[in-house]
Amino acid sequence: MAETDFPPTRVAGRGRGWYRGDCHVHSDRSDGGEMTPEELAAEARATGLDFLATTEHASAATHGLWGRHAGDDLLVILGEEVTTRTGHWLALGLRPGQVVDWRYGVRDGTVDRHLERVHRIGGLCVAAHPHAPYPSGTFMYPYEGFDAVEVWNGRWASDLPWNADNEAALSEWGRGLAADLHRGRWRPAVGGSDVHLRGQLGTPHTVVLADELSTDAILAGLRAGRSWVAESAAVELSFTVLAGDRGAGIGERLETRGETAVVRAEVRGVPSGVVTLHTELGTAHRRSLPDAGSGTVEWRTSAAESPFVRVEARHPDGSMAALSNPITLV
Ligand SMILES: [Zn+2]
Ligand SMILES: [Zn+2]
Repeated sequence: MAETDFPPTRVAGRGRGWYRGDCHVHSDRSDGGEMTPEELAAEARATGLDFLATTEHASAATHGLWGRHAGDDLLVILGEEVTTRTGHWLALGLRPGQVVDWRYGVRDGTVDRHLERVHRIGGLCVAAHPHAPYPSGTFMYPYEGFDAVEVWNGRWASDLPWNADNEAALSEWGRGLAADLHRGRWRPAVGGSDVHLRGQLGTPHTVVLADELSTDAILAGLRAGRSWVAESAAVELSFTVLAGDRGAGIGERLETRGETAVVRAEVRGVPSGVVTLHTELGTAHRRSLPDAGSGTVEWRTSAAESPFVRVEARHPDGSMAALSNPITLV
C-alpha cells in the first residue's frame, strides 16, 4: 500500500441526484479528535452519507490517508479548516496536500488573498460556525468573498449551550437573505457536524443536488445553494414551488409571470414536528406534523408578496431537524 494515497475526485456511475455529505470532519490528527480516517469512513457509510470533506485544523496531513477509505459508495473531498486568529473557515476542494495559510486575523487584511487562491482552483470557502462562543472561533470577517455560511454546526439540541450559536447564525443569515437575493449575490447555508468524537459524524449534514458524485459537482451544488441541511439521514425534505406549468427547486429561481405560486414542502422523519415557511416577512406559514412525522405543507403566494421562500422543520422542543436554502420567485 502506498504511503500517500489521495482519494479520487469522482465516483463513477453516480449521475444526477441528491447526495448527503458532511462538509466539516476532523480525524484524530486534529486537536480533540478521536477517530481515525478508517473509523470515520465506516461511520459515514453506516450513517448514510455519500460524501465527506476532510477538514483538519490548519493541516493537509490526512489528505494522503483517505484514498484507501474512499470508494464507489463514498466520495472524499479534500479540504482544511483554516483556523485564523479571528474566525475559522472551511476551504473545500483543495489540491492533494495543499495547505491554506491560517496565520492572520481580520486586522491583517489578508484573508481575501487566501480566499482568492482557493477560488482560483475551483474551491469553495465557507464561513464556519460564525457565532461559536470560544476565543478565535467567533467569525469576525465580512461575509463578502465567502461562498457559503455554516449556519448549522454540530448537534442542535435545546439542552446544549451551543444551541445559541446555531440560532444566532441562522437568524443572521435569514435576516440578510432578502437584501442579498435582491442584489443577486447571496451565500447559501450549509451544515456540518464538526465531528471530533464518536457518534457525531453526519449530525448535521448537507444534502446536495449534483450532476454526479464528484468534488466539482458537489461544490457546484453547494455554491448554487441547491441544498438543504439534515439532522440525520432519517429526515427527508422535498421542497418545490410551481407557477403555471413551471417549477423550481431549492436554490433555483422561478419565473411566476404574475401567476399564483404554489409552495410545497414534503417532510418525513420529524415526529410531531413543526414546519415553517419563511419569506422576507419572516415566518409566513406554519403547520404541525402528525406523530408519525410525515406530512406535506402547501401554501399559496406570489412573487410580489414573497420574493423568496425557505423552509425549516423543527422538533417539538424547538431543535432543528431540517432547513433549506431559498427558492427565489420573480
Ligand atoms: Zn472551528
Ligand atoms: Zn472544526
